Amino acid sequence: MAKINCIGILTSGGDAPGMNAAIRAVTRAGISNGFSIKGIYRGYEGLIKGEVKAFTTEDVSGIITRGGTILKTARCKEFTTHEGREKAYETCKREGIDALVVIGGNGSLTGARDFGMEFDFPVIGLPGTIDNDLYGTDATIGYDTTMNTIMECVDRIRDTANSHERIFFVEVMGRDAGFLAQNCAIACGAEAAIVPEETTDVDQLAQFMGRGIRKSKKSCIVIVSESPKCGALYYADRVKKEFPGFDVRVSILGHLQRGGSPSAHDRILASCTGAGAIEAIKQGQRNVMVGIRNNEVVYVPFSECIRTDKRFDKRLITVLNELSI
Ligand code: ATP
Repeated sequence: MAKINCIGILTSGGDAPGMNAAIRAVTRAGISNGFSIKGIYRGYEGLIKGEVKAFTTEDVSGIITRGGTILKTARCKEFTTHEGREKAYETCKREGIDALVVIGGNGSLTGARDFGMEFDFPVIGLPGTIDNDLYGTDATIGYDTTMNTIMECVDRIRDTANSHERIFFVEVMGRDAGFLAQNCAIACGAEAAIVPEETTDVDQLAQFMGRGIRKSKKSCIVIVSESPKCGALYYADRVKKEFPGFDVRVSILGHLQRGGSPSAHDRILASCTGAGAIEAIKQGQRNVMVGIRNNEVVYVPFSECIRTDKRFDKRLITVLNELSI
């Protein structure tokens, strides 16, 4: 196996709080272990176009507290083609990059797997997504911060919902995975969650909400995973039509969920997996994602971590139902 001297690092897909902490960890652990590090801007697009800068420890100073990604991120259609990935490989050769660390979600790590296999190139992935939809790690970088952001927002909505005795449908991110909606519903004491993994019957939902309101509750909050067709607006409309007596409102949290300073959990996760990526390269690993499972750093083959059917524990539905009476 060829000796690795220079490691390129990029962030790809949706930004997630803690990506900066991961960039810092890879850079600092890399330099500590004698590698040179190059930052690649705008994800795979920057890799194709050659937007590369040599990084020193100073380039990552003071970023552990910051949300977003100093490397910027992008979605790049061209990288999904062999021709696009070939251009990316040319950049690596030209820049003397011998290995890549890719921080991103399911799509980004799928691209990383294809690139690594096609060009026999060492690639290590870090789980950077607010959605928590990657196998092989207990949590992804950004998920905990986003849950805390949602919780703070919903706590505020609860104050006004209580005061006016209203029903709120609060839409959160996670169109393909209900981790955020289901867990935030529990954390916020919401009355129900609507997630992509489960079908939701509007009549049942309305009756359930009405029962709560009539009994003892002053308000009702339902957390809904975003969806192009069946998001919070859809459910609010249906409930309003069928139960005109309810005072129903909608709040779509949108992009504010992505921003903000990462939580302690995400900073530690990003730091440990970032250092783990360098350790993986030293061990000669390739085409694996670094995760943390049961408090231990683990290396998970890309093909395993990008399976699309990671689901939250269904017992959480029972917990929510039992606690929201
Ligand atoms: P998030 O979880 O925040 O959405 P993600 O990494 O899943 O992050 P995507 O938009 O799905 O975000 O993917 C990011 C980029 O990864 C894409 O723009 C594309 O360049 C690359 N990518 C995605 N899917 C593939 C694929 N099947 N083959 C090659 N590259 C891919």
